[in-house]
Amino acid sequence: MNELETATLEISTRLTEKSRLPEIDFQNLNFGRVFSDHVFLADYQNGRWQNLRIQPYETLPRLTPANACLHYGQSVFEGLKAYTNTEKEVILFRADENWKRLNKSAVRMCIPQIPKEIYKEGMRMLLDMDRGWIPPMDGASLYIRPLIYAKDNSLGVRPSDTYQFVILTGPVGAYYGEPVKVKVETHFSRACEGGMGAAKSAGNYAGSLYPAQLGLEEGYHQLLWTDSKEHKYIEEAGTMNVMFLIGNQLITAESGSTILDGITRKSVLELAREWGVDVQERKLAVSELIESLENGTFVEAFGTGTAATIAPICQIGYEGKNYDLPTVAKDALSNRLLTELEDIRRGRKADTKGWIWKF
Ligand code: PMP
Repeated sequence: MNELETATLEISTRLTEKSRLPEIDFQNLNFGRVFSDHVFLADYQNGRWQNLRIQPYETLPRLTPANACLHYGQSVFEGLKAYTNTEKEVILFRADENWKRLNKSAVRMCIPQIPKEIYKEGMRMLLDMDRGWIPPMDGASLYIRPLIYAKDNSLGVRPSDTYQFVILTGPVGAYYGEPVKVKVETHFSRACEGGMGAAKSAGNYAGSLYPAQLGLEEGYHQLLWTDSKEHKYIEEAGTMNVMFLIGNQLITAESGSTILDGITRKSVLELAREWGVDVQERKLAVSELIESLENGTFVEAFGTGTAATIAPICQIGYEGKNYDLPTVAKDALSNRLLTELEDIRRGRKADTKGWIWKF
């Protein structure tokens, strides 16, 4: 049997005895701190995914001190969001792209592929059970975190033979409450050519924490990572891809082995191209950016990502100098993109591109 096929899809369910939903204040949600009642789990053993189940959110059983993932970080994950429309249907934005990227990351990390049916049906059943956890108001949504981690109890440095696939969810509010200040990082690197920067895997995030912490102490929300060879070209931010409108060009780093190929990035570029914007996926030198700020051709800069959607950047720090960016106009490209994406993913606008899963 091909890894992307499953014979039958039987998912057992065990319901929580008492829902925690009544305790949740949807108006005051911190990102990633509150989790819904249930999780989906599947185990990989003897070369196939089995024991598909939905159970209450609780401590994972049989995680020993020798767990391979805890030591060597063999894991991949995803992040996507669910919304409800006025008909109370569940809407997922480009969930198939997250499935593809999960499996792409999995190849890089020597992790077995997840068949689409397991991902899709597991998510559908889970969201159906925890429908009440999807916040209905603008600015909030249900964050979905699929995760695969190594399960072997072994300290040998080699790919694990066993894995667990988990889907957990939790209601979230806005990721950034204000425009973002970023610092161009010219010492530390997030990723290098041939490295694992394009994989959504634990180690990329662990390695970014220390430089990001130093940036935070200087008052920057995030770092603008640059290429690891020369620290000359802008790559991406810690949890977002970044785009710059300079003159009439919308410039963003090309996807390759050093940046995460963002699904919001992909969607924004597609919309911008349709709207006649001159989209350029190319190297952007920090010097070109600074020059544009100095000669007045700079228009706006923003991050794109599932958590933040479109996050306007208000300040860029570079070599000890802070550049304050112009205030973003109401009809700016970033605001038009945000409105368009929000309308599509909240089901307010017809999905003409097949971006939506609805149930
Ligand atoms: N870069 C990094 C490092 C990220 O973690 C994310 C968030 N997944 C992104 C970019 C944006 O990707 P997406 O638009 O798919 O959320």
